[in-house]
Amino acid sequence: MSDLATIRAKLFERIRRASPVSPVALLAVSKTRTAAEVRALAVLGQRAFGENYVQEAVAKKAELGETALEWHLIGHLQSNKAREAAKTFDWVQSVDRIKLVAELARHRPANLAPLNVLVQVNIDDEASKHGCRPDDAFALADAIAAEPRLALRGLMAIPAPDPDMQRRRAAFRTLKHLFDALAARHPGIDTLSMGMSEDFELAIAVGATMVRIGTALFGARRSSRDMP
Ligand SMILES: *Cc1c(COP(=O)(O)O)cnc(C)c1O
Repeated sequence: MSDLATIRAKLFERIRRASPVSPVALLAVSKTRTAAEVRALAVLGQRAFGENYVQEAVAKKAELGETALEWHLIGHLQSNKAREAAKTFDWVQSVDRIKLVAELARHRPANLAPLNVLVQVNIDDEASKHGCRPDDAFALADAIAAEPRLALRGLMAIPAPDPDMQRRRAAFRTLKHLFDALAARHPGIDTLSMGMSEDFELAIAVGATMVRIGTALFGARRSSRDMP
């Protein structure tokens, strides 16, 4: 096996051990990685890739040509990029304000399936302005669910990078409770996106259905444009 194949197989093994019963989706976070690196992983069967910047995803998709890959926007979305995002991605995980909902719905091309959307919630990160307040997640979810060109799939969060894993666990728990409450209102939702390279096993133990992994898959990032 190639190095990458070994790394991916070991990662799957850790995910399986953390969640022996329910499958957990692996989103390969490809920000700052080249199209060639994406292709190498795609050849191994990886289908879902996450990007932080709309333009970076547009460029990578153009370089890769027609593929069956699934692209997720996981970075902050500026309103003036919503149109491009609606055309480029299969999922937008970072919807955190009402204005984006109408913009994404209006610009989702008619020939594409409805855009999958997650509400990004700011659980505990006071340093970050991204993500809605937990109290606002329901109204945002209701607005998404009312748009035929959008498909409400669940919640996403990036808890503060607290070195204390107990506090991170508490943040994941808060998100899981919010997800369960939202599922009572929108029974179709199926995705709780939380957990990254450092803490994905903890996130899975608390109920993540999708983990977003960059460095544990591709190695350390070289670029400075690497923070959420
Ligand atoms: C970069 C990033 C990740 C992946 O982080 P790693 O620590 O490299 O696994 C996950 N989610 C978001 C939103 C990111 O910006």
